[in-house]
Amino acid sequence: MFDTLSDRLSGIFTKLRGKGKLSDADIDATAREIRLALLEADVALSVVKQFINRIKERARGAEVSQALNPAQQIVKIVHEELIGILGGEARRLQFAKQPPTVIMLAGLQGSGKTTLAGKLARWLKEQGHQPLLVAADLQRPNAVNQLQVLGGRAGVEVYAPAPGNGVGDPVQVSRDAIGHAQRQMRDVVIVDTAGRLGIDAEMMQQAADIRDAVNPDEIIFVIDAMIGQDAVATAEAFRDGVGITGVVLSKLDGDARGGAALSVRAVTGQPILFASTGEKLENFDVFHPERMASRILDMGDMLTLIEQAERAFDEDQKERMAAKLMGGEQFTLEDFLEQLIAVRRMGPIANVLGMLPGMGQMKDQLAEVDDKHFDRVTAIIRSMTPGERTNPKIINGSRRVRIANGSGTTVMDVNQLLNRFADAQKMMKQMGGMMGLPGGRRKAT
Ligand code: GDP
Repeated sequence: MFDTLSDRLSGIFTKLRGKGKLSDADIDATAREIRLALLEADVALSVVKQFINRIKERARGAEVSQALNPAQQIVKIVHEELIGILGGEARRLQFAKQPPTVIMLAGLQGSGKTTLAGKLARWLKEQGHQPLLVAADLQRPNAVNQLQVLGGRAGVEVYAPAPGNGVGDPVQVSRDAIGHAQRQMRDVVIVDTAGRLGIDAEMMQQAADIRDAVNPDEIIFVIDAMIGQDAVATAEAFRDGVGITGVVLSKLDGDARGGAALSVRAVTGQPILFASTGEKLENFDVFHPERMASRILDMGDMLTLIEQAERAFDEDQKERMAAKLMGGEQFTLEDFLEQLIAVRRMGPIANVLGMLPGMGQMKDQLAEVDDKHFDRVTAIIRSMTPGERTNPKIINGSRRVRIANGSGTTVMDVNQLLNRFADAQKMMKQMGGMMGLPGGRRKAT
């Protein structure tokens, strides 16, 4: 995601390293390079101009901190300005005071609307809501069916016109769906509307008619990030024609250059609410401008990593783990195995590590991080008996050979794992001690 832009920016900042003071000429040269990088990333010209002016102004200004070196100062300013153009604070969905909350989706055909409807439904359900999906895209053959499949996957009911009734009227279907939602006690209604390949007066009118029929709390415009700032122009047309309250970026996993993400907020004045990063229902998250800016600047994305990790661990497991640590119980190989499996569930290890600060610089090395290594460790632990996993000290020489054979590894691999684990266990024990064990707390009060 935005790799080229990240590389370009990081190259620009590298050149500043080692400079004791930045002259106006240095600032101008840096600003010019950033400008080019943004234009190449397909960011709208008006946005680039404004951005560069702010950078120059601030870099020359008196705010310059003594604590940072010139390169760090520029990075800080660029980071803050990036957060600004991405929208500042994350903007949450607006829910109606009187349910159901109605969310209407709009966008061009192929932008990822129907997929988003499924993702949003799944996400809302995960947040404890009772959503209803409405198939009001009666234009595109198969859209209703596609939504039904996605609804099935998300475990969310889909309201659709009865089959065999001809094309059906999307406005009527949407209106009826609201009544249905009220009767069924659904608190959020997601209306998937029809798109076209380009801006089209008829489509715009239909969207406006649906809007008037359902009175939405949010009108979300879905943008295919791969199309870049052209897609943003469409958002502008929708904003003027239908009125949008927010934007969702889809297909950020493709080799998007960043133009759409960086332009849409400034051009439309509407916030980016969510980002989609794949075809699966779970490839979807709340859009955090701060995190995205950090990612573009390759300052790591610890928060996203933590959030993803949390999601990968099931609640139950989290509670058990916390209880263990708080209770000062030993962290065993069994626990370690559970965690390994959870981390593997987050995707290829190189991707997970890539989200840590500074790791983007190490792309080439990361590409060599071998998932097989993690799988070998998993295999070794699986070859141990439950008793051995709890108390690895009982594993003697001949058992080490058997475990190595059983897991298709070498005795050296087994030894290495056991040594590293013993170190880790010591550390966990100390951490547990620091987290306020019952004994320590009570003594203090
Ligand atoms: P609609 O016409 O706007 O309803 O678009 P669809 O939801 O049918 O999506 C069009 C195509 O884009 C489908 O093949 C989706 O699987 C795909 N798609 C949607 N969102 C994403 C995404 O975030 N990443 C990727 N890679 N593909 C996506």
